[in-house]
Amino acid sequence: MKFSKLAEYYEKLEATSKRLELIDILSKLFKESNADEIGKICYLLQGRVAPFFEPIELGMAENMVAVAVARAFNKEKADVIKVYRKLGNMGKAAEELSNNSQLTTNKPQLSVSEVFGELLKISRFSGEGTVEKKVSALCDLLKKLDPISAKHVANIPLGTLRLGIGAPTVLDSLSLAKHKDKTLRPVLEDAYNKTSDLGFVAQTFFKKGIDVVRKTEIIVGNPVRPALAERLPSAEEAIKRLGKEFAGEPKFDGFRVQVHLSGSSVKLFSRNLENTTLAFPDIVEGAKKEIKAKSVILEGEAIAFNPETHEFLPFQETSKRRRKYKVDEMAKKLPLVLFAFDILYLNGKDITEKPYKERRKLLESVVSKAGNIIRIAEEKKLKSAKEITDFFNEAISEGLEGLMLKKLDSPYIAGGRGFHWVKFKRSQAGQLTDSVDCVLLGVYSGKGKRTEFGVGGLLVGVYDNKKDEFVSISRIGTGLTDDEFRKISEISKHIRAEHKPARVNSDITPSFWTEPKVVLEIQADEITRSPIHTAGRDKEGLGYALRFPRLVKFRENDKQAEDATTVFEVVKLYSLQFSHYKK
Ligand code: AMP
Repeated sequence: MKFSKLAEYYEKLEATSKRLELIDILSKLFKESNADEIGKICYLLQGRVAPFFEPIELGMAENMVAVAVARAFNKEKADVIKVYRKLGNMGKAAEELSNNSQLTTNKPQLSVSEVFGELLKISRFSGEGTVEKKVSALCDLLKKLDPISAKHVANIPLGTLRLGIGAPTVLDSLSLAKHKDKTLRPVLEDAYNKTSDLGFVAQTFFKKGIDVVRKTEIIVGNPVRPALAERLPSAEEAIKRLGKEFAGEPKFDGFRVQVHLSGSSVKLFSRNLENTTLAFPDIVEGAKKEIKAKSVILEGEAIAFNPETHEFLPFQETSKRRRKYKVDEMAKKLPLVLFAFDILYLNGKDITEKPYKERRKLLESVVSKAGNIIRIAEEKKLKSAKEITDFFNEAISEGLEGLMLKKLDSPYIAGGRGFHWVKFKRSQAGQLTDSVDCVLLGVYSGKGKRTEFGVGGLLVGVYDNKKDEFVSISRIGTGLTDDEFRKISEISKHIRAEHKPARVNSDITPSFWTEPKVVLEIQADEITRSPIHTAGRDKEGLGYALRFPRLVKFRENDKQAEDATTVFEVVKLYSLQFSHYKK
């Protein structure tokens, strides 16, 4: 496929925010794609040249792209910046300058694979002279493109190619392109959950067919989409769901880490599949020394821990370790312990299908309770509501968040929420039993004292995973500290959107919209029905809203927008309020 054809599709995708239309356009695009380019197209649709978890970036800031655009179209950098300021988008500036230049005839019509190859080359330059190499390679590429293609290519290094397409939409469209309907989506999704690589799944599907996709196994080095927990209203309910006997583990309030070890190579991934290897050199060293296996994928919660006093530090302390600079200094100040709670792969074998109790035995064979950095999470076999309550109280008294209860015969369900894992969190009187992870959808400009921050309030939403869209659930104006307002102001500068973004469904319009990217953990007193918000709106026009919302923490580093609380969970939390758990 010619890249100009793909650029035409980008234009169509940009012009709609309706999911069904997006699927229709995407499936037509996929029908026109061949097996050698479908993977690349999937990455390019996300504005990337590799899956999300690969730390492969084009590494070009605004200034560098502006120089490349200027050189490509015989302008000064200042001219580019001027047009960029006027249009608010570098791609649009490149398009306009390309249109105005005399260089629009006799372009070579590059293919998708050629453009992909050039972009990949740019991402790989390193060492001396990198800046010049990147700028001149991007300039050469832009020169060879038509104005619309130049627009989209110029946006890729800046992460401003905003088509608003989530993985579920791509998976539906792949199924529709090769099959008469969307029924292959669950098989494709399962493969995606195991490999986190849309390009790989699409290519396998196009090259080898759905039966080979069905056999996809997890791969050391590719993050597995994490299994998620459900909530239940009471210990009695948990017993009904989990069977006569089940496992209980403390719920640590740190961050989830997936460790991939193969020989002496270690990679770490966060809950949202980001490669965090460089941020935690202590865990990398610990994994090399303390995990006894040739190859392994295991999961645990990393938490700042004082080994002398055996004291777990609060989340605010642990979160100081999520940084890109002064990593070693911080590792000394706030050492982490990784409490391993599951194992997915061992010595060449995918063991996700094995029941939890067998995986736990294998986990015990590779990490010990006495480890310095990698330790196994405590586990108790429980049978009664009293045993749950006693263990829960013990965990709380040690400063932990609560308990995770696990079904003994359940496989590891990648990317899935289910009653195989049930979480019981500490709750405070008069509050919901759990917080809600919301997505920032927009910002209200500040008045009075808050003019200084440019932010006076927030519009937040939750995720409707059936429709792959974000729906509003609350406005938040109080309960943020000055620092938090400043942080929101800083974050929103980078994700500010000109219009309501694709996949956002809200009747309320904030002062400005933001791309749905940042997750905020919100605590509220109650969930109520409301005609204002679109979350879970029914035929009578009633949605759900948070009452007295306040910010608990920023989760921009560990949750993607699609990992936010879902509408389905909100409905559940709403009904849990009326159950005996709250009395
Ligand atoms: P939540 O983020 O509130 O839905 O709770 C699920 C998270 O709890 C997981 O993603 C883990 O990061 C964390 N967690 C802490 N302790 C455990 C444990 N023992 N087993 C599983 N997850 C745990």
